[in-house]
Amino acid sequence: MEKGSFNLKDEGEEHMKFTELPTPCYVVDEALLERNLETLKGVMERTGARILLAQKAFSMYALYPLIGRYLQGATASGPYEARLCAEEMALPLARQGRKLENHIFSPAYREETFDEVLEYCDHIVFNSWKQVRKFGPGARAAGKSIGLRINPECSTQEGHAIYDPCAPGSRLGVTAAVFGNLRERAGGILAKDPLLWLDGLHFHTLCEQNSDDLERTLDAVEEKFGVYLPGMKWINFGGGHHITRPDYDIPRLERCIRRMQEKYSLTVYLEPGEAVALNAGFLAATVLETLHNGADIAILDASAACHMPDVLEMPYRPPLQGSGLPGEKPYTYRLGAPTCLAGDVIGEYSFDCPLQEGDRLVFEDMAIYSMVKNNTFNGMPLPAIALRRKDGDCVMVKRFGYEDFKRRLS
Ligand SMILES: *Cc1c(COP(=O)(O)O)cnc(C)c1O
Repeated sequence: MEKGSFNLKDEGEEHMKFTELPTPCYVVDEALLERNLETLKGVMERTGARILLAQKAFSMYALYPLIGRYLQGATASGPYEARLCAEEMALPLARQGRKLENHIFSPAYREETFDEVLEYCDHIVFNSWKQVRKFGPGARAAGKSIGLRINPECSTQEGHAIYDPCAPGSRLGVTAAVFGNLRERAGGILAKDPLLWLDGLHFHTLCEQNSDDLERTLDAVEEKFGVYLPGMKWINFGGGHHITRPDYDIPRLERCIRRMQEKYSLTVYLEPGEAVALNAGFLAATVLETLHNGADIAILDASAACHMPDVLEMPYRPPLQGSGLPGEKPYTYRLGAPTCLAGDVIGEYSFDCPLQEGDRLVFEDMAIYSMVKNNTFNGMPLPAIALRRKDGDCVMVKRFGYEDFKRRLS
């Protein structure tokens, strides 16, 4: 691996210092991203597991050539992400002689766009036997590897029901009862031996979790689906593995991987999103106004609802450089957005000095689930996207303006 920075496809004209970037601006840090990629690559090298980027968490495609140097490829939630991987990750790496994989999972594919899926993807994961019946023959004829998502019905997370695909009534994955009933339920082309249509099984049940929860999930997978595993070529552990978090137990993850490799001779895939760019990016914002209503309030040029929607959806309090918990430092502020939404508040933070108009604030861990989820509610400008190079210099990768807001409306 080269020591220096990799080359951006369209190396921006605009180089500037971090403190000179216009706000709001997402800034992804090349060195921090590469540190995560090194960690993931270590797991791949030690175990032979294949790790894919889940693009839905982080789709900064200017960095796909870099990510493709470390990982095995990417996975998509639909044809657009699959095409993005094909164009921006697989193609540039193919020019360097490296063949990457392009996986996709969708709860239901559309007939009109399934040709695109076949064009871009090599691994296609379905969510029901009915979808296998409908699209499996075309996929098989096109030489694709076919998987089915299973639901091991093993909830390992409390509190975050909207992130728990094992919750009762879930639409995500086939339960053991439905899977086992396949001979009656499958019918059609699957009537004879449905399992012959599957190359792999896929589960995705974790969210920001450690490998002990993966271990428990694997116990459930083996208990409920173990009899089918010897017939498979691969198993995909999904995402939600917080592998690059400092307290993550990597040796236990590697034991989980080896267990499936050794017991069933399976190729093991992992498709983390968060772990790839965890703590590798920032959102720089500026204080526009300060006011007082029972508490001190600062209005920023950044919005939770528009620029960091997970702050409200998860919800969570993003780390802010140089700040403390409310009351920890002498000056506490409620930080809010310049939108109409009363609840568009990022959180309460304390500072050493009073905030003033023009002060810059830097929110941390803003690479993942930020730029992929943002929106222009209230006509809010989209944050620019910049890259901080290893030498500390920043490159402006993209700026957005009024036209981007207008183009999505009519
Ligand atoms: C969301 C998702 C991922 C990535 O999850 P992270 O929590 O970002 O690691 C991977 N696979 C599937 C099927 C997903 O839905």
